[in-house]
Amino acid sequence: MKRLQQQIAIVTGASSGIGQGIAIALAKAGAKVCVNYRSSEDGAKKTLEEIEKNGGEGVIQQADVSKPEDVKTMFQNTIKEYGTVDILVNNAGIQQDASFLEMSHDDWQKVINVNLSGQFYCAQEAAKEFVRRGVVEDRSKAAGKIICMSSVHDIIPWAGHVNYATAKAGILMFAKSLAQELSEKKIRVNAISPGAIKTDINRDAWEDEESRNKLLQLIPYQRVGEVEDIGNAAVWLASDESDYVQGQTIYIDGGMTLYPGFKDNG
Ligand code: NAD
Repeated sequence: MKRLQQQIAIVTGASSGIGQGIAIALAKAGAKVCVNYRSSEDGAKKTLEEIEKNGGEGVIQQADVSKPEDVKTMFQNTIKEYGTVDILVNNAGIQQDASFLEMSHDDWQKVINVNLSGQFYCAQEAAKEFVRRGVVEDRSKAAGKIICMSSVHDIIPWAGHVNYATAKAGILMFAKSLAQELSEKKIRVNAISPGAIKTDINRDAWEDEESRNKLLQLIPYQRVGEVEDIGNAAVWLASDESDYVQGQTIYIDGGMTLYPGFKDNG
């Protein structure tokens, strides 16, 4: 029996990068996956192809997570297709970088809308379904699991990215407060804070050798992360193996949060 057998997962922003990696990893562990995308239908199709190549199953669902009505429809459609939802991975995120003095209201608001409010809209729909259904014993010890994608920048300040770092810091407390409130309903909420993972969002930082070497100065473990590093953790957090893990943020960063600048006496 696979770890996530019979379970239904929604992964937001699953048409590329970390979300794509997580969707594939959850499906390999036995979950049926709703592959959400905003604009890249081709990317979502690639994710589903990879899921099916590995013997898994899924559906594709377009929705902009910053629009509550889109999110509602995505949940309704997934529940219509599969009967319920057991796992939500709140992964969708954007960067809209600018120095603080030049950051427009739009730069600020867009990042907050997607990276923070988007997670709220999705988590609320998921929690309503988890409460409605409750625990199904042969499926999972929990009534549902929510995994919030944060970033090491929920604790490492990031000049030039104040909107992004602020949204991710919000996710840190969002996950903890939700976990505290929803525990008695047997809903688990945890967060993952990746360091530098090779995806499109940070291609400039790892694609050429000079940038990569600069980035590696921030990573004691001396490699840039892969989406599988995050996918494996997401499967564990979604499974009963982590049933006593609640309200935690797990840093998966090759040691980026260990203040590597202090290694040689600061
Ligand atoms: P990515 O750009 O490949 O993935 C982001 C995904 O979110 C894309 O598929 C995009 O289409 C989707 N998305 C954006 N806005 C959306 C919206 N309104 N509705 C639905 N989907 C939307 O980058 P990634 O690195 O895979 O990022 C995934 C998550 O991981 C993000 O939350 C990001 O902040 C976080 N993260 C990434 C890194 C890294 O090093 N790559 C580090 C820390 C945190």
